[in-house]
Amino acid sequence: MIRTEDLIGATRSPEKISEEDFADIITKAISKPYEKPEAISRCFCRHCGLYGEVLEEYIWSLIKTTIATQHPLHVSWKNIQELREYYFITDNCEICRQKGERVKTVEMKKI
Ligand SMILES: [Zn+2]
Repeated sequence: MIRTEDLIGATRSPEKISEEDFADIITKAISKPYEKPEAISRCFCRHCGLYGEVLEEYIWSLIKTTIATQHPLHVSWKNIQELREYYFITDNCEICRQKGERVKTVEMKKI
C-alpha cells in the first residue's frame, strides 16, 4: 500500500475537491519529472486530490483493479516501464476514505 509519507501534499484536508482543482493538480504534477528514480507511475485520488508517485510494490494492486473492472486501457501496456507514461486515478485513498470503504474504481490515463 502507498504510505502516507510517500504522498506529496499529505497535509491536504481530505475533503471533496472540485473537478477544476483536480484537473489542475494532475496537469501540474504530470508536467514535472518524477522525483523518485524508482517511481513507476503516479496515482491521484479523485475525491481529495492527494497524489503520489507509485512504486512497484503498490502498482500491482492498481493494475489488478483495472483488470477486474475491465478498464479500457488495462491491456494497453506491455512492460512496467511503460507505466511511466500513464497515471492512475482512484475514487478514494487511505487519507480520505471512510472506515471500511475500499477503492472501487481505478482509472488509467495516458499522459
Ligand atoms: Zn483521497
